[in-house]
Amino acid sequence: MPFEEEDFDFENRLVSTEATPSDSTETDLSLRPRTLEDYIGQDKVKSNLKIYIEAAKQRGEPLDHVLLYGPPGLGKTTLSSIIANEMGVNLRVTSGPAIEKAGDLAAILTNLDRNDVLFIDEIHRLSKVVEEILYPAMEDHAIDIIVGKGPSARSIRIELNPFTLIGATTRAGQLTTPLRDRFGVLFKLELYTPEQLAQIVKRSASILNISISDKGAFEIASRSRGTPRIANRLLKRVRDFAEVSGKREIDDSIANFALQRLEIDKLGLDQIDRKMMEIMIRIYDGGPVGLDTLAATLGEESVTLEDVYEPYLMQIGFISRTPRGRCVTKLGYEHLGIPYTPSGTRGQLDIFSPEVGNPNE
Ligand code: ADP
Repeated sequence: MPFEEEDFDFENRLVSTEATPSDSTETDLSLRPRTLEDYIGQDKVKSNLKIYIEAAKQRGEPLDHVLLYGPPGLGKTTLSSIIANEMGVNLRVTSGPAIEKAGDLAAILTNLDRNDVLFIDEIHRLSKVVEEILYPAMEDHAIDIIVGKGPSARSIRIELNPFTLIGATTRAGQLTTPLRDRFGVLFKLELYTPEQLAQIVKRSASILNISISDKGAFEIASRSRGTPRIANRLLKRVRDFAEVSGKREIDDSIANFALQRLEIDKLGLDQIDRKMMEIMIRIYDGGPVGLDTLAATLGEESVTLEDVYEPYLMQIGFISRTPRGRCVTKLGYEHLGIPYTPSGTRGQLDIFSPEVGNPNE
């Protein structure tokens, strides 16, 4: 099968869940909800958070440390700024890879005001030495710093203001146990339903002064792979098409036309998803194929496949994860219009894989 890596622009995928440079503009900041009320979906997380925030405020204490996990683009950063806002405290944002030395983290921690929120994105990427600073900080609001070298070295304890750490990661399992155990609250963010995404699209449209019909919003929502970041991005691209064709309102026909031109199909799959499933079928007979093998064939990193491509394809039941590797399901074959020919145990694994459930349900 001829597959050239250069054929695809992995970095600038329209349906990428990762933030792209064009997402970090001021417009995008204005789209971020600022209160729990405005934060659409994730109802279980919201209702629990409301109680925890209220209780912490009544006691005058910081909120317990919170770990948010789930695929990129689901609103982890947004939620942390809402928490700080609702608690009436400052938010400090950083990320695992940005904190290189223990001293960097110590400087951040000692500058926090009482009950402030510190958000660390990609917290699983903290180095071991940096992570160890966090343990006493999270538990006792203190850090231990070694002063001097050799035999005269001694450890000094510095007291910190009480604070809330919010850690975000794509998978809770990537965290070391000692770090995970120090979070009092763990929230898993789920992919959004098309109905919730349609609400998000309508909210963003009204902030951006775009007129959009219910059907138009739903058309964009149902192709956004359960991810608000993608929904907002597609809304802006569809707006371009509507403006150029002189439409005052985004309706389902212009949305459909634009998304077809952008090669995003009815379910939000783009060329890269389709190519990946095609490779699994044509080269690996539909699977099982190991994650690393598949990643090497596609010229992508395994973690990217696992965190960015797979969650949605698994949610819609096109790919299943089995102990021996990934498989394309019958539904996946049907979507690509390729006749399904179950071989060996693959068919059984597809249907009864506990992680996917029965895709026909
Ligand atoms: P993450 O930190 O999980 O990668 P972000 O918090 O950066 O995701 O969210 C990406 C974008 O999606 C934000 O700019 C925000 O506008 C939008 N968004 C995320 N969650 C919601 C939500 N529940 N309601 C409305 N918009 C949301």
